[in-house]
Amino acid sequence: MSVKNFIPVRKRLFVGLLGLSVLGAGALLAGIWFLAVNPSRTLFDQILLISLAGLLVGGTVIAAFGIGGIVLTILYSKDITAFHGPMRIAVNLFFPIVLVIGKIFHIDSEKIKSSFVEVNNDLVRSRALKLKPAQILLLVPHCLQNSDCPHKITVNIDNCHRCGKCPVNDLLELRDSCGIKVGMATGGTLARKYVQEYKPRAIVAIACERDLTSGIQDTNPIPVLGVTNERPFGPCFNTSIKIADVEEAVRFFIKEEEYETLACSH
Ligand code: SF4
Repeated sequence: MSVKNFIPVRKRLFVGLLGLSVLGAGALLAGIWFLAVNPSRTLFDQILLISLAGLLVGGTVIAAFGIGGIVLTILYSKDITAFHGPMRIAVNLFFPIVLVIGKIFHIDSEKIKSSFVEVNNDLVRSRALKLKPAQILLLVPHCLQNSDCPHKITVNIDNCHRCGKCPVNDLLELRDSCGIKVGMATGGTLARKYVQEYKPRAIVAIACERDLTSGIQDTNPIPVLGVTNERPFGPCFNTSIKIADVEEAVRFFIKEEEYETLACSH
């Protein structure tokens, strides 16, 4: 495998920036250490600085293990349980720093978030989660609804008259034929409410890169497969989705033998 193909391009951005942020933390640590051993400091200053350095060392070492775990998981498509904790810390703790570094290098934050979603999906796919359909929650955004539709589906998604003018029709058919749960979320608060109500073991979330990123972090440690919506008319308006991508994500979580018995498999 050549170095160029080490990690696929779209995932390389997030993992690369994550590595850079850990290097930055390491440099900061070296600076703190230098100040701590400087004899002109008072004893209190030195204790404080050494404590901070200790915290940073711990965080940096764990994050470095996390990045190693992410790279190995992507490379071998295999779940490495021992790395779960460090991977979670690396992703959640260092993500804001990743965005700041991206900004310094003038990298579009949407690109970084898209790369993050890809990395997350790879990590989720490395796990052997074989669930019952009712344990899966499909979270869909309101912007999929056709803007001319008069029906109030955010109150109750079953108010949809299934005219077929927007993807809500297909998603409801998928729900009915597979037996999964569906929640239409107009924002993070409602999405969290569905998660509390249905207590899913896994989530398939449809949204833009920004909402997927925050949703994946919010619902941690519940595994989330993110499906990015298409925005031919701009953000949050008459968006669409490839239903095959959603079906494939739902199928991933369901036991193979169980899936074969479902109406959605035919
Ligand atoms: S499928 Fe038709 S009725 Fe249902 S939400 Fe879309 S436009 Fe409205």
